[in-house]
Amino acid sequence: ADIKEVDIHEGIDNTLLILNHRLKLGIELIKNYGHLPMIECYPAQLNQVFMNIINNAIDALLDHSNNQTSKSLFISTRVEQDYIKVSICDNGPGIPKEIRQKLFDPFFTTKPVGKGTGLGLSISYQIMEKHKGKIELFSELSQGTEFLITLPISTNIS
Ligand code: ADP
Ligand code: MG
Repeated sequence: ADIKEVDIHEGIDNTLLILNHRLKLGIELIKNYGHLPMIECYPAQLNQVFMNIINNAIDALLDHSNNQTSKSLFISTRVEQDYIKVSICDNGPGIPKEIRQKLFDPFFTTKPVGKGTGLGLSISYQIMEKHKGKIELFSELSQGTEFLITLPISTNIS
């Protein structure tokens, strides 16, 4: 597992391709990609972060029995100074305040036994730390949830 310079959009798009069978269950995907430089990272690890966060968003959208609004997944990217930002947003149920601080704990899950391990976000958090980046969470009940990934363009990681 070596550090490589990669096109982040390729990683996101590959993840979306793998998850296509789930997206087809009634989710509208809206992408807004900015112009990004190549990023130094551990590609397999970063793809694991995209996989988990997007899969969580899909779970939230599909489990949500609100048929009034369409189920939308928004993925956008942009550059900010020496960082890139990847925003993964859903208009699902949102996350109650009381559990927000537990989300990144290992084994914390609200999913039924056998459906969730509760490891995805804790592993994602560690991967982002290793990349000297971060994951932030913004959520509004019954409005939706945003996971915002910040990643240095040049990591100097080793
Ligand atoms: P798992 O997916 O196995 O439950 P994660 O660590 O990936 O474990 O997520 C932990 C919990 O965070 C989930 O069980 C869910 O309650 C909550 N969560 C994560 N993403 C979202 C989201 N987009 N909308 C609502 N809840 C979410
Ligand atoms: Mg998960």
